[in-house]
Amino acid sequence: MSERIVIVGAGHAGVSVAFKLRAYGYTGPVTLVSAEAVLPYQRPPLSKKYITDSIDMERLYLKQRALYDSEQIDLLLECRVEKINRENKCVALDSGELLEYSHLVLALGAATRCLPPEQGGQANNVYTLRTLEDAKRIRGEFVEGRKLLVVGGGYIGLEAAAVARSIGMQVTLIERDRRILGRVASAETAAYFKALHQRQGVAVREGVELASLERLDGRVVAVQLGDGTSMETDAVIAGIGVIPETSIARSAGLRVGDGIMVDSVGRTDDKSIYALGDCACFPWRGRRIRLESVQNAVDMADVVAQAIVGRRVSYQSIPWFWSDQYSTKLQIAGLNHGYAQVAVRKTAEDSMSIWYYDEEHRLIAVDAINDAKAFMTARRWLGDGFSPSIEEIGNISVPLSSIALSEQPDQIT
Ligand code: FAD
Repeated sequence: MSERIVIVGAGHAGVSVAFKLRAYGYTGPVTLVSAEAVLPYQRPPLSKKYITDSIDMERLYLKQRALYDSEQIDLLLECRVEKINRENKCVALDSGELLEYSHLVLALGAATRCLPPEQGGQANNVYTLRTLEDAKRIRGEFVEGRKLLVVGGGYIGLEAAAVARSIGMQVTLIERDRRILGRVASAETAAYFKALHQRQGVAVREGVELASLERLDGRVVAVQLGDGTSMETDAVIAGIGVIPETSIARSAGLRVGDGIMVDSVGRTDDKSIYALGDCACFPWRGRRIRLESVQNAVDMADVVAQAIVGRRVSYQSIPWFWSDQYSTKLQIAGLNHGYAQVAVRKTAEDSMSIWYYDEEHRLIAVDAINDAKAFMTARRWLGDGFSPSIEEIGNISVPLSSIALSEQPDQIT
């Protein structure tokens, strides 16, 4: 039987698993299969500095080429796994080759949602932003004075809008929901970012749907909105979410819901197949979640690699995430799903933190805006299961450092 570990997908998750396997002493063959043609790279800079600044490619790569060789990680670029044969424990590549595995790791990521073709979503200057190729194509449209429509007020859309404004584009951002960041943040956090973008000159229009895109010679030239208004545009970026990549798992009979279903070590129903990162749905504190963040990809990779080499582990990390817009840094610790109330702690004109509590007054998440201290403290407290009172948090004359840890932390399980 083959001893080969095959990892499908070479984003943050797949690359981390490969190197962690070596760090935990696995000496057998490791093959990392990537559908993309370039060395594996970081995605976060693509919606930030990369669009306008020429970042050195070496700094975008997750690992330099030589490291794959020195760690004996067999990296197959521009190569897609088309099928998993669980009975024979092998995968079929698009080249027709079969690769046997002892363990298979699915780190397939997610695909961007596109605007429907009937709305004009297939025009040449309508973009989504997931890959280096996408970012390169968008870069060609980012020219001072041109008009950009951003569809979707999530983090990717807001970051792209910020970059476009920073080079003097005329930017309109539309959000179908009542407010931006509706799926991921409190009204207080959303209000901060809306005001920030408006101050920078972005036209933020909430509760407005895209009706259709008007084309000329294959390019969108104007946009009709659901409220009956229309506007000219030179390019469109759709930041309307992603769909986890699950197709090869589903056709292999693995359990799939909002992502590939795994247990607390990333293992699917098939004991020799694991899944992690953006494509995986896992148990966390009594429910199932799927996260789209670098932290989650890297932390799950650590757990998966340990499980494969036979260590007893389970995923216990406190999720965290960041977003950069203009010179504002947002850092998020924990998950605010189902929060009942928030406490706002404003420490300076441009720095504040929003503390989320559940129905039992337990702290579950914090959004820290230009406030690294609040973020670090919140991460520690969330890890300890400690909940400061809402009154203490709301009172800025009480420094965070003086809020004592209770002797018996209120552990969230
Ligand atoms: P991916 O990075 O998507 O990698 C999956 C890889 O698998 C892809 O290369 C794909 O082509 C390949 N693949 C899929 N199917 C196959 C197949 N059958 N055969 C071979 N290969 C296959 N997170 C943060 O925490 N902070 C941020 O500020 C932030 N900013 C972001 C900005 C942008 C523009 C984007 C797109 C994402 C951002 N994220 C951010 C999210 C973060 O980048 C992702 O959560 C993370 O990259 C997920 O890693 P992954 O390895 O699970 O998936």
